[in-house]
Parts: sequence; structure tokens; C-alpha cells
Amino acid sequence: MPGVITLLPGDGVGPEVVAGARTVLDAVSRRFGHQFEFREADIGGCAIDAGGTPLPAETLSACLSADGVLLGAVGGPQWSDPAARVRPEQGLLELRRAMGVFANLRPVATHPALYAASPLKDRLLAGVDILFVRELTGGIYFGDKTRSADSASDLCSYSREEIERVVRLACRLASGRGGHVTSVDKANVLETSRLWRETATRVARDEFPGIRLEHALVDAAAMQLIQQPARFDVVVTENMFGDILTDEASVITGSIGMLPSASLADSGPGLYEPIHGSAPDIAGRGIANPCGAILSAAMMLRHSLGLEAEAAAVEQATWETVARGIGTADLVAPGAPAITTRDMAATIAAALDDDAAVRRAIA
Ligand code: NAD
Repeated sequence: MPGVITLLPGDGVGPEVVAGARTVLDAVSRRFGHQFEFREADIGGCAIDAGGTPLPAETLSACLSADGVLLGAVGGPQWSDPAARVRPEQGLLELRRAMGVFANLRPVATHPALYAASPLKDRLLAGVDILFVRELTGGIYFGDKTRSADSASDLCSYSREEIERVVRLACRLASGRGGHVTSVDKANVLETSRLWRETATRVARDEFPGIRLEHALVDAAAMQLIQQPARFDVVVTENMFGDILTDEASVITGSIGMLPSASLADSGPGLYEPIHGSAPDIAGRGIANPCGAILSAAMMLRHSLGLEAEAAAVEQATWETVARGIGTADLVAPGAPAITTRDMAATIAAALDDDAAVRRAIA
């Protein structure tokens, strides 16, 4: 199958981890007989340096005309002056807006190979496999703001339609998993949350009779994520609650370098990126963990290219490699031998060439 993939390496470790993902995508093409066409474009700090703007017009058009967009990370200390008129993250926010990606998907799953790196006890980590679906383009982050010398306000507003589309997506995704959706809100206090709860209830009841929907208040959900993370399947929530809960959940797994994300629109390409930033402290040394970018590429195969077996094979190859004790410095015990970003990607790509591993993944 042909597919146009736009790569946006960005800043810091972004180019290193995106190159790792490209190595694995090349192995997928070889193994499964696809012909992906890759385009590469600047975003963030490197685009500011090259042309004064964090999202050049040619980058945007390369994204909008692709099947999927894989981004590394943007930002770094050289562009972090808060008074600067142009900043790297403006490029990412503008890209998300232009692509219309209203839902951010973040899978959070634990693996025995990484239990030791998690702050939680092993018995709490077994069986954790959560898919967060965060509303990305509405709510308090995008509402009107006011500011005077002594007071300030941020408006939180949601329309029924904005809630429906993200809840619908969460229910659809849950249908292919455990069939359980937890909708998180603050309906005891917030009017937007009461609309959220009422809408989620109706969408699930009328359109997804097989789904078990439960509601949780955000404060209770924050506690349960630590006390009983294995109880969750799909969690759907508004923008700010999702921002906070997904960061809380990311520390459960043990390494920020392992976590992927996908941002999806109603139609058109999706945007895929590891959840970590540009990691300026380790950039340029070839030691960053490429797995977050590789697992993001797997999400792109699944959600934008419709290649489920290929996505599962990449996920299987990645976790089998980690389970063998092979890893970049962030994954192995202190003092244990670590491999480079490039070797990690090459090892995962080689696992894809292993018939037995691929058969296990797509069985
Ligand atoms: P960060 O995620 O870049 O780094 C946090 C810590 O995790 C660092 O110690 C880093 O070395 C480590 N780390 C991150 N990714 C890793 C990987 N793949 N392998 C191994 N270790 C890894 O967060 P930060 O330090 O708060 O931010 C650095 C820069 O990245 C800032 O300019 C910030 O604005 C930007 N940022 C960008 C994005 C994005 O592009 N979506 C997201 C978050 C932060």
C-alpha cells in the first residue's frame, strides 16, 4: 500500500528519534511490501532559525497533503525567552489547529521489564493498559481571557457537538478493546462538566449499547490512577483535565521515552508524536530512547494508514526488544550496558524481519 508520510524532526533529540522511527518504517515496508513516500520539513526552533517562522507555509502544506505526520519535538533553551515574539511551540499549536485534530490519544501500558523504574509497587502495575482520549481544541485553554491589575479570568466553554465527537471516538476505540469507558469531569461544580456528563451518557446509550460507561470526578480519578490503575480501559475527558491526568499517568510506566501519542481529526491526516520534549540535556549524543517515536509511528500505521497488523508487529518488536533487556540508557539499570538510539531502532527493525515475532504479533 502506498502512503505519504511527512516527517517533522524538529529540535533537540527530535531528529534522532524520528530517524529511528524511519528505520523501523523502512523495515515495515520491506517486511509487508508497502511503498511509503517520505517528505521532511522544518518546524519549531529550527524553522525559526531558517526562516523566522515556526511553521513555514511549505511545512503546513506538506502536512495537510500527507496521510500521516510524524513529529519529533520542538523547543530548547536557545528559543525559550518568554518575551520572544516567535516561539517554537507556536508552530505546534498552529499545526494542530490547522489539521483540526480535536482528540489526543495517549496509551499508557506497563511492562514487567520496566516495573523497577516505576514509582508504583509491582502489584499495582500488573495489567495496566489505559487509553486516554483527551479533548484537544476546546475548553479553558482556548476560552476568552481577561486580565486587570488585580484580577484575571479564563473562560471554559464546550459545545454539545465538541463533546459528542470526542466521546464518540472514545466509545469507538473502546469497542475494539475492553469495552469500558470512564468519562472524567467535575460535574458536582462545573456547568461545562454537567453538559459533558449528560452528552456522554446519551452518546454511549444511543450509539454504543455494548459499551460500559462510567463517570468519575477528576479528583477521584486522579487518586484511582495511582491506587488502582489497572481498573481503567479508555478514559475520555476535557482538555485541561486530560492534560493533567495524562502527565500523572505517564510516570506510572517508568520511562517518558517509551510513550507515544496520536492527535486525530474527523478526516484528514493524524499527527503522531512521542510525549517527551526535545530533551536538550541529552540532544546530539545519540543516546535518546527512540521507542516513543517508534510506537507513535505504529499508531500512525493503525489510525491513519489502516495497517493494523503492521502496527501490532511494530509494537510487539519494540516490547520484545525491551523485554530482552536491550535498551538505551534510560531503560537499563544504572551501570548496565546501554545501546545508542540508532542501534535500538536497528534492533527493533531487525526483530520485524524475524518471522516468528511477526507471526506472534498478527496472530
Ligand atoms: P523533556 O521531555 O524534553 O525532558 C524531560 C527529561 O526526560 C529530561 O531529563 C530528558 O533527558 C528525558 N527524556 C526526554 N525524552 C527522552 C528520550 N527520548 N530518551 C531518554 N530520555 C528522555 O522535557 P523538558 O526538559 O521539560 O523540555 C525540554 C524542551 O522540550 C523545552 O523547550 C520544552 O518546551 C520542549 N517540549 C516540547 C514538547 C513537544 O515538542 N511536544 C513537549 C514537551 C516539552
